[in-house]
Amino acid sequence: HAKRQGRNTFAGFEPGMDTELKVRRELEADLASVVERGELSLCFQPRVSMSSGAIICYEALVRWEHPERGQIGPGLFIPIAEQSGRIDAIGNWVIREACRLSLSKLSGAPVSVNVSGHQLRSRGFVENVLQMLKDCDFPPERFEIELTESILVEDRDRSLATLKALKRSGIRLALDDFGTGYSSLSYLRAFPFDTIKIDRSFIMNLANDNSSLAIAEAVINLGRALKLTIVAEGVETVEQLTILSSRRCDEVQGYLFSRPLPADVVPQTVESQLAVILRSIVKEPRTA
Ligand code: C2E
Ligand code: MG
Ligand code: MG
Ligand code: MG
Repeated sequence: HAKRQGRNTFAGFEPGMDTELKVRRELEADLASVVERGELSLCFQPRVSMSSGAIICYEALVRWEHPERGQIGPGLFIPIAEQSGRIDAIGNWVIREACRLSLSKLSGAPVSVNVSGHQLRSRGFVENVLQMLKDCDFPPERFEIELTESILVEDRDRSLATLKALKRSGIRLALDDFGTGYSSLSYLRAFPFDTIKIDRSFIMNLANDNSSLAIAEAVINLGRALKLTIVAEGVETVEQLTILSSRRCDEVQGYLFSRPLPADVVPQTVESQLAVILRSIVKEPRTA
């Protein structure tokens, strides 16, 4: 039961379909008032520039502290919230809270938030986001939305129109988990993305799997040709960092720099030891 071991599973619950279904229904019901009950919080994970070693932006990642079940990961409850239509209220809370915390705890640093397909397709999404940013006094230029490839495939024309409207307002757009979905490369040209995030599954195996390395290289080169910023997610080792630097990846994010942490404790600069490593790596001649 490999599926049971990840953070996206009903860990700690009794096995068996009936129980899973029951728990799922319970969580679905609990999600209906999760915002009002104040059970959600945000963690932030820095995204670091390879060339300057500066923190470019923070990704906001939602956390749910369930009164009886403890921490439940977003990989588990976001899909349930999506299917039950609760994602819109949660998503709105995430956007407001990310802006509020950036301004109060992170010196107004740029933030990125994950947005699901259901949210993107909700009526008045663009106006709604812009209004929330305005209410918080948060500049759209410092706000990025992360979307996965599946969103582009479902309802392509409508998604494209929405993304173009977001882009016109100054909001930045990132394509998350790149390489794991089914979208065609031509979408990359048609959709107005600023950033591509290479999925962690490729980064994880960079050092010991030639095909992961080949895919990461291809994405980096593609991104450069299309003038997009390339981010590697899930960077955990100096070895991975070195490989990504030699391939001229623009930015990195992962446990090597910081786990996602509450805004008042997340690092605001890269640890000096890592900064030294970054400088020494970046100085080395890069393979063309
Ligand atoms: P994602 O957007 O691809 O976020 C990256 C995930 O990888 C996060 O998991 C993060 O904690 C984890 N991660 C980051 N660096 C490393 C690393 O070096 N090693 C390892 N092993 N993992 C790393 P998390 O927080 O559990 O979030 C899972 C997914 O849930 C996110 O994937 C995103 O798709 C979704 N999600 C999180 N917050 C929100 C939200 O506010 N709204 C929506 N719609 N989805 C969200
Ligand atoms: Mg993301
Ligand atoms: Mg991702
Ligand atoms: Mg992901």
